[in-house]
Amino acid sequence: MKEVDVVVIGAGFSGLTFAHYLPNKYRVLILDRKSKLNSAIESTGLITEVTKNLFADFTDVEAFLPNHITTISVVSPDYNKYFFSHTEKPWIYSTDTPEFLKHMSETLPDNVDLKLESSFVDYSIEPDHDYPVKIIYNQNGSGQKELRCKFIVGADGVNSKLAKVNSNLSTNKKLLVGYEKVFYGNINLGEHPESTVYHFWFGEFSLGYGGWLSPTIVNGKKAFRLGLAKLEKDKDKIHLLEKFINKLKDEKIIKIDEEHKNPIHTFAHSIPIGGVLPDLYDGNSILIGDAAGFCGAFAADGIKGSIISGKVAARLIPKYLEGEKNILNSYLKEMNKFNHLISYYRRQQLYRALWNRMKSDRSFHALYNLIEKEKEGFLNQFCDNMTKKKGLTKVILKLKNIPALSWYAISLFFDLFRK
Ligand SMILES: Cc1cc2nc3c(=O)[nH]c(=O)nc-3n(C[C@H](O)[C@H](O)[C@H](O)COP(=O)(O)OP(=O)(O)OC[C@H]3O[C@@H](n4cnc5c(N)ncnc54)[C@H](O)[C@@H]3O)c2cc1C
Repeated sequence: MKEVDVVVIGAGFSGLTFAHYLPNKYRVLILDRKSKLNSAIESTGLITEVTKNLFADFTDVEAFLPNHITTISVVSPDYNKYFFSHTEKPWIYSTDTPEFLKHMSETLPDNVDLKLESSFVDYSIEPDHDYPVKIIYNQNGSGQKELRCKFIVGADGVNSKLAKVNSNLSTNKKLLVGYEKVFYGNINLGEHPESTVYHFWFGEFSLGYGGWLSPTIVNGKKAFRLGLAKLEKDKDKIHLLEKFINKLKDEKIIKIDEEHKNPIHTFAHSIPIGGVLPDLYDGNSILIGDAAGFCGAFAADGIKGSIISGKVAARLIPKYLEGEKNILNSYLKEMNKFNHLISYYRRQQLYRALWNRMKSDRSFHALYNLIEKEKEGFLNQFCDNMTKKKGLTKVILKLKNIPALSWYAISLFFDLFRK
């Protein structure tokens, strides 16, 4: 039976980052069920400045950033009102996600092998064996196979199979479902659509999150990503994305390229919003990335947590294998050293709880009117700044906002009586 030091399940952002960082004296095998790494990637792929810099430590990320985003536009539920909030320097970047992940896989160090079309099935641990972890996986075309390793890493995403087959590990239970289509064409709202992302707060239409429109470049041509996310319990209404797309066409906010009317990519995928999971490691196994719930419960920004958890796990596992069996207890503490990331995830739970309480267009209008008054400072509490504890509450809690805040509170109160 084949033996390696470490097996990673999943070649997404977290698994590939881990494999780049693990010291090269360890032999690593990554298994992924996909057949191609640059197939459609289930992410909008927006990354913050901090995330970009983390990537720059081990990849040529700059080559995969088609759009530098300096502006956010928030559009009100009836599309009649919108505002722009702008910063001088980019606050996020769009990535050519498929090609970037392909680049990450092609630049893996020599100690790492990657097997595609290989689906993880199960594992067991025999503590007295030199290679105590026994893994079963399915390889397309050649059926079920076994291999052994000293440590197994679950980087297999939000519905981690590795977490499911080990009852001592936690699984993600609270989910959003995101549905996205990518088209060639132009965005026609605002002066600099190629450096603006748009968030649509259409309340009752999309309880749980909202809609987004983000510029990108595909094969050298202007394109955009259009998405809608809803709470998992409402996932049967995710097809409302079509209605959203038609509305944006009618409002002339987007113009789909006449020659390419069909979407370039379409995908639906879950996003973990329950916060960091309680049980992330057991014996010789650990969860990283989405599998561990490292994703903002409100912002749905999981790429940062994927890289940081990959990097931290790659530092802790060698110590574990050298005999420091308690080292994994410091996992979250080590992650929190990156801009208080774990504390940020806890605050995101509060935003999520509030957003989940908003059930009517009235509440979304009330919040929109409140935020619009503070549009200058709105971006300052976003993304990387959110981890620096500059929360939205600090931006809006001002005497002059008391009437708007009161109306928002009343709207939330009425929402208590809605289903
Ligand atoms: C619609 C949508 C939009 C998003 N937009 C953003 C954004 O703009 N910015 C941001 O920061 N985050 C965003 N996210 C979240 C972000 O994409 C994820 O947090 C991130 O991709 C997680 O990376 P990961 O490596 O942990 O997991 P994944 O990217 O899910 O990778 C898991 C890998 O494991 C493989 N795998 C799964 N099961 C098995 C198995 N049994 N055997 C073998 N292989 C397996 C999969 O094929 C996959 O390659 C978005 C998510 C969605 C759904």
